[in-house]
Amino acid sequence: MAERMIVIGGDAAGMAAAAQARRSRDRDDLEIVAFERGHFTSYSACGIPYWISGLVPDRDQLIARDPATHREKFGIDVRLRHEVVAIDLDRREVTAVDLTGGGEIREPFDILMYATGAVPTTPDWARTDVAGVFGVQTLDDGSALRSWLDADPPPQRAVVVGGGYIGVEMAEALVLRGLSVTLVERAEQPMSTVDPDMARLVTDAMRGLGVDIRTGVQVTGLSEHDGRVDAVRTDAGSIPADVVVLGLGVRPNTALAEAAGLPIGPTGGLRVDRQMRVAGVPGVWAGGDCVETLHRVSGMPVHVPLGTHANKQGRVAGINIGGGYATFAGVIGTAVTKVCDLEVGRTGLRERDALAAGFEFVSVIAESTNRAGYYPGARPMTVKLIAERPSGRLLGAQIVGWSEAAKRIDTLAVALWNRMTVDDMTALDLGYAPPYSPAWDPVLVAARKAVDELAR
Ligand SMILES: Cc1cc2nc3c(=O)[nH]c(=O)nc-3n(C[C@H](O)[C@H](O)[C@H](O)COP(=O)(O)OP(=O)(O)OC[C@H]3O[C@@H](n4cnc5c(N)ncnc54)[C@H](O)[C@@H]3O)c2cc1C
Repeated sequence: MAERMIVIGGDAAGMAAAAQARRSRDRDDLEIVAFERGHFTSYSACGIPYWISGLVPDRDQLIARDPATHREKFGIDVRLRHEVVAIDLDRREVTAVDLTGGGEIREPFDILMYATGAVPTTPDWARTDVAGVFGVQTLDDGSALRSWLDADPPPQRAVVVGGGYIGVEMAEALVLRGLSVTLVERAEQPMSTVDPDMARLVTDAMRGLGVDIRTGVQVTGLSEHDGRVDAVRTDAGSIPADVVVLGLGVRPNTALAEAAGLPIGPTGGLRVDRQMRVAGVPGVWAGGDCVETLHRVSGMPVHVPLGTHANKQGRVAGINIGGGYATFAGVIGTAVTKVCDLEVGRTGLRERDALAAGFEFVSVIAESTNRAGYYPGARPMTVKLIAERPSGRLLGAQIVGWSEAAKRIDTLAVALWNRMTVDDMTALDLGYAPPYSPAWDPVLVAARKAVDELAR
């Protein structure tokens, strides 16, 4: 008799696991049912800012596979607008509510894939019926925001609350749509994913684009007129707003898992083993923004909610569910983003992470350019390296620059993944031609500077 796999969450991790399991087990061997409470499956939340800005014209371009494709290509029974509200591990069944009014159903499972993603941080002041306040966690959220922005007359003044990479990308999107944008951040700099000295470059560039950045400012509430938001109140005064976008970070969406007694780790994410099996619970798997994972440099559990990990973890779970063997190797915290033309990349530990993990280290900042200085389009590039003292092992790297900066972080990520020292790195055979780098690539310039600093 066929086994039954239930997937909770129809996006990156959940559908990657389902599709991968199907590659090894046909429909007579494994029946797959996926519950998704939203209107879409397998969409790119990462693309939402670019659809909001208009760079990507059509929402459906963000959808990699719709339910019909999942059904036809993989024989997956996708139930959209169905929210799973309970998991019973003893009876091995889930309870789901049909959000279109169809009532409650129970579905048995042999295999459960938990892939519910993350929950956006929503402070009390944002829990409101006031219209014009949006998160951007899901494509449904993005659609609601896009409709508001497309209204006639369109909103003119936007306030983005939170200066993480999502807040920064949304600020860019709103600037590109022609809104006047204020970004409010409680910390001293936006982009806390990089060290403050590098974040300052991002702040300066955003101000150059016309974004009004208010740092060290705490939001205290919203003002409304006729049920629509008309200002954001802060401890430093009121900021007029026709639309408010929240980018205050996320936490793992584990409420259902916790209620079912599944193990939660110190970061709040579900505890899984290397094969993405929920630790100690046979037949239950998890992946994506709802789980915690191992940081390969600090050796500590971390919650790093990124699509790149969600897809890989879903695939690993699916291979194992399909009867194969695969493991997820952990993360090193590589991430890239941009604000208009300014690119930001990071990998490994920031200074504060290296301190918390108990490393002794040096850090250097090297100024260089993306191309040979004489070649048209040469622009500044700043590379920061953090290296263990005295071993010289690379612990972390950050790059801010105007073009070709973001993906240069991948060179550093590979070096870091392979535990290279900055001394080893100075000898790397990296490509050089004037349109692509100076004779000494910015990565090599930074590595040499770190070697000098270690020798001091
Ligand atoms: C605006 C934005 C930009 C981003 N940019 C990047 C980027 O550039 N690079 C990058 O690597 N990552 C990026 N990310 C992060 C990336 O989108 C997530 O890490 C990824 O989507 C996580 O996949 P997931 O499958 O774990 O969770 P999700 O994509 O959140 O999917 C979980 C799904 O589960 C559903 N669900 C939850 N609970 C239930 C339930 N009880 N019953 C039924 N369904 C349920 C939800 O509706 C959701 O569709 C971005 C995210 C956002 C929001």
